[in-house]
Amino acid sequence: AKKARRSQKILIIGAGFIGLHLAQIFSQAKKKVHVIELKDQVLPGLIPSGLALWVKDLFEARGVRITLGVRLETLREKEGRLSNGDRVGVDLAIAAIGIRTNWEVVQGTSIAVGEGIVVNDRMETSRSGIYACGDVAEYRDFFTGESRLNPNLVSAAEQGRTVAAALLGKSDRHPGLISINTFRCFGCELVSLGRIEADVGDRLLEEGDVERKFYKRMIFRDGRLKGLSFFNIPVDSGLYYKLVRERVSLEGKEERLFREPFLLGKAVAQRASKA
Ligand SMILES: Cc1cc2nc3c(=O)[nH]c(=O)nc-3n(C[C@H](O)[C@H](O)[C@H](O)COP(=O)(O)OP(=O)(O)OC[C@H]3O[C@@H](n4cnc5c(N)ncnc54)[C@H](O)[C@@H]3O)c2cc1C
Repeated sequence: AKKARRSQKILIIGAGFIGLHLAQIFSQAKKKVHVIELKDQVLPGLIPSGLALWVKDLFEARGVRITLGVRLETLREKEGRLSNGDRVGVDLAIAAIGIRTNWEVVQGTSIAVGEGIVVNDRMETSRSGIYACGDVAEYRDFFTGESRLNPNLVSAAEQGRTVAAALLGKSDRHPGLISINTFRCFGCELVSLGRIEADVGDRLLEEGDVERKFYKRMIFRDGRLKGLSFFNIPVDSGLYYKLVRERVSLEGKEERLFREPFLLGKAVAQRASKA
């Protein structure tokens, strides 16, 4: 902590949620902040690439330097060398490059592991009677069926409920992992849920105004919401999560929902839960 307070040039490796949170806090503490990111956008895989440009601008306008598409090759003394050949001054380097599952607890057993501990729709591992859930669990994606992790609080709580139901002999099944992220930076609020990019055959509604600092994108398939990305649109993401998860039919209401997401989302979700 003392070193962080004394340091002036902060290099943050990774422009995910944690890296950008750190960048915001250090820049507000008047440090010289440089964020480097391996991928070609900030918050990769978390928000659409067009919106990522806005977020990048937001940080750069506050003096944070962001370099995309590079990795740190070496770090010696007070100098870092990047893969694009640049040399950067560094007093303190912080790696914010994501999580890796610690599944040591099942190492050496017959329990199947991939990126995490593989589970079925009751959160049961490949060994009957042994369950895993939360950050450590690898399960199928709600939309694509691909096996993956989903390290967030909403998912952890939902998986916990699934295990409890399974242990109590109930028939509840987990429908698949849905990403949900909220992020606040420099007074702006970002929400992303479900699919970020539209697939062939999806209906994409999108609107944004960089001056007025708002952006919204909704993706529908057969009248059902598949995903949304909002920037400075105040909605209850939990309600929208429910619309996606329960595959609520919004046929004919897509455009109204898109125009008035805060008014309609609640009404539709309430009706769906009564049905
Ligand atoms: C910095 C940070 C910010 C985050 N922000 C968000 C956010 O804004 N929104 C969001 O949705 N998610 C966020 N997450 C992710 C979220 O915290 C996790 O997805 C969620 O907590 C996972 O729940 P879990 O029960 O699997 O694990 P944890 O919440 O990590 O719970 C596991 C618990 O088990 C304890 N434990 C571990 N080993 C043992 C042992 N051998 N014996 C006893 N106890 C043990 C640990 O101490 C811990 O308390 C964030 C994560 C981090 C690291």
